[in-house]
Amino acid sequence: MPPQPQPRVARIANREIQGTATSHIKSRVSAALDQRDCAAVVTLAPLRVVKLSPDALAAPSNPIARLPAEWEECVRGWGEPAYRGKQIFDWIHRRGVLDPDEMSNIPKVLRVRMKEEGVGWPIEVVSAHESADRTKKLLVGMPDGERVETVLIPQLADPRIVTQCISSQVGCAMGCVFCASGVAGLKRQMTDAEIVAQVLLGRRELDPDQRIRNVVFMGMGEPLHNYDAVARSLVLLTHPDGIDLSKRRVTVSTSGLVTQIDRLGKDFDGQVQLAISLHAVRDEDRSKIMPVNRKHGLADLTDALRRYPMPKRQRFTIEYTLIKGVNDSVKDANGMVELLRGIPVKVNLIPMNPISASELQAPDSSHVMRFQEQLTRRGLSVFVRKTRGDDVAAACGQLAFHGQGPRRASRTEQG
Ligand code: SAH
Ligand code: SF4
Repeated sequence: MPPQPQPRVARIANREIQGTATSHIKSRVSAALDQRDCAAVVTLAPLRVVKLSPDALAAPSNPIARLPAEWEECVRGWGEPAYRGKQIFDWIHRRGVLDPDEMSNIPKVLRVRMKEEGVGWPIEVVSAHESADRTKKLLVGMPDGERVETVLIPQLADPRIVTQCISSQVGCAMGCVFCASGVAGLKRQMTDAEIVAQVLLGRRELDPDQRIRNVVFMGMGEPLHNYDAVARSLVLLTHPDGIDLSKRRVTVSTSGLVTQIDRLGKDFDGQVQLAISLHAVRDEDRSKIMPVNRKHGLADLTDALRRYPMPKRQRFTIEYTLIKGVNDSVKDANGMVELLRGIPVKVNLIPMNPISASELQAPDSSHVMRFQEQLTRRGLSVFVRKTRGDDVAAACGQLAFHGQGPRRASRTEQG
């Protein structure tokens, strides 16, 4: 007798879909997705469904942050056919057209309704600065006058491929002593619409031959301290009918909010890339420069990484800002190797960008190289992030807080 095929299981939101034939499961998954508007990825062998269910999401803050099914429900309420909802989502997220008057296949009456609802740009570019290496920094203004930054960083090897660094909060509550956003404190959360609109604006600033392939939450703010808005923006950024970024190319960077790391792993099934700002390898040292460590110490943090549902062959990015005399000794390098043992990582070393509020500074470049060697010799993959956009004041949080006067500002490239 031929062997019986093993049943395979797909999960959508909290539902399981079982079957033996992959094609059968796929069609049932698609039907469920149409109904519930999960942005899912189904891959074969092994069959894997990534659940990004709106059930797990907080309501959108603004029409711009609606998913197709939410638009459908809305237009049905206005007495219009449901397919108009998909068309509107397509205009906003795939084509980047947020002005209803420019949505040429939408009837006038619906465009008027959308304008009454407040459909339009939730943010605007206040100023743009381009550096010699084509790194472009946008100062973004919001209706209440608050400002954040977003940076477009073309790859050195192929400038057509761009990484966009986006902000998730105005300022930051985490208080890291080496960071301009941390020193400033949290002014307010950004909304889901404001977060995602940075990418919609960013695309308009590209040259015709360029495209955004990676998005990193490494601008202003701690993304996991604004979980609901960030989660919805992740669904929107990766929605196949919209901006359609690959989840493997969206990186959330965190100072180590352990509970939210667990939640992100669960909600997105480990598919979103995670970067951890480590910056020190002993609790007493890390607590001095990163107050978050007093609540979630290194053992908690590394435990969270070990239980994160990381897909095979993927790695965490460990960010390590090198600060002279603080975290750059041989003992620190050895401590890092011990701490990260058994966790799949690549390490990005970032020589610290000086900020006006602190005397801390980067080690000299030969010291950075020696530190890198210590780690590579013991088996870690280590990149030193190159400084980019020196002439456009592009460091984390610095342009938006320009009044506080950065001494030297630069942006670093994702390694
Ligand atoms: N809040 C998140 C993401 C934003 S900060 C986090 O901390 O991970 C993005 C990265 O820039 C973090 O690794 C952060 O530690 C680093 N950073 C902040 N200020 C810096 C500075 N002055 N020099 C070098 N890196 C800095
Ligand atoms: Fe916030 Fe990240 Fe800056 Fe720390 S490094 S203060 S978590 S933005």
